[in-house]
Amino acid sequence: MVSPLSLYFHFPFCTRKCPYCHFYVIPKKREESFLKALLKEWEMRLPQIQNKEIASLYFGGGTPTLFPEGIEAILQQASAPEITVETNPEDVTPELMQKLHDLGVNRVSIGIQSLDNILLKHLGRTHTAQKAIAAVEMTRAAGINNITIDLMYELPHQTLETWKETIDQAIELPIAHLSLYNLTIEPHTAFQKKEKELRPHLPSEETCTAMLDYACNRFHEAGLIRYEISAFAREGKVSIHNTGYWTSRPFLGYGPSAFSYWEGKRFQNICHMNKYIKQLEEGTFPVDFEEELSPLLQLHEKIAIGLRLTGGISLRNLPLSTESLLKELAQEGWIEYQENHAKLTEQGTLFYDTVAEMIIL
Ligand code: SF4
Repeated sequence: MVSPLSLYFHFPFCTRKCPYCHFYVIPKKREESFLKALLKEWEMRLPQIQNKEIASLYFGGGTPTLFPEGIEAILQQASAPEITVETNPEDVTPELMQKLHDLGVNRVSIGIQSLDNILLKHLGRTHTAQKAIAAVEMTRAAGINNITIDLMYELPHQTLETWKETIDQAIELPIAHLSLYNLTIEPHTAFQKKEKELRPHLPSEETCTAMLDYACNRFHEAGLIRYEISAFAREGKVSIHNTGYWTSRPFLGYGPSAFSYWEGKRFQNICHMNKYIKQLEEGTFPVDFEEELSPLLQLHEKIAIGLRLTGGISLRNLPLSTESLLKELAQEGWIEYQENHAKLTEQGTLFYDTVAEMIIL
């Protein structure tokens, strides 16, 4: 059987850059040349995907909904059982959601981040909680019932009380899926420049653990089941696309800065719009960085990423060195490992990054 694949399209446009964002984003410009280049990249990669089953299409960014013509042009070329488009609350209108629905988009991911207006301001976001709620309702009214939202915790000035209010409101929304992100202050961001000023306002470790506990319990009660460290879904609404990342399904990324994982290689497109366009105009792949992973590293990455799923990962015929590493992790209480199956313990879930590092290094 030919294994399915996923396709990701990066539309790097945002109206402004959020101070914590480390993605490649730019103001909306050169859309026509970008689209021409994107379609050229599509055409050049066609031999790789021909006769293969496409499990999911994902339009991310940036804010792909700032350029619906681009989404439309790609959807004239490709389809999949799950087609997700990311958007921000301030960009959602009934017309836009209707257009996406009519184009075949069946999943919308809305970057809500918080339902607390003061925190939204601190995050440099331009929407309000009211606008975020209205955006979910408009999406649902357009006939798209697979809605996912992002929420952030471990934020400066965030308290357990404000977090609880956000969670309590979020579970009342007509959503099918939800992802939680803890804030990490990344290099080359505005937040990093004022890190010293922000640090004293971050919630304590204890509060952060209580935030996560509260969210997990409330989601569970509301029928949003945790199926990955930071993802929760109603029955039948697990993300096909994201599950691909966690199960090492091959994927191709199109657009500037997009990553791909393909035939044991990982590569990334150039993070520069003009150079991306120029390379495609010249008929060359706009790849900036490529690495070939040894079979052992592929296996260890697959295990580390697969452990993110609450159901764990099935493992057979492991090399002795991998087997003894997993036994060691089990002895230390990070994972449960028996009968060709491994999964994180509660402790391992809390310290996932440490466990992953131990497996990958
Ligand atoms: S909206 Fe999203 S992609 Fe755009 S700048 Fe903000 S965090 Fe980054």
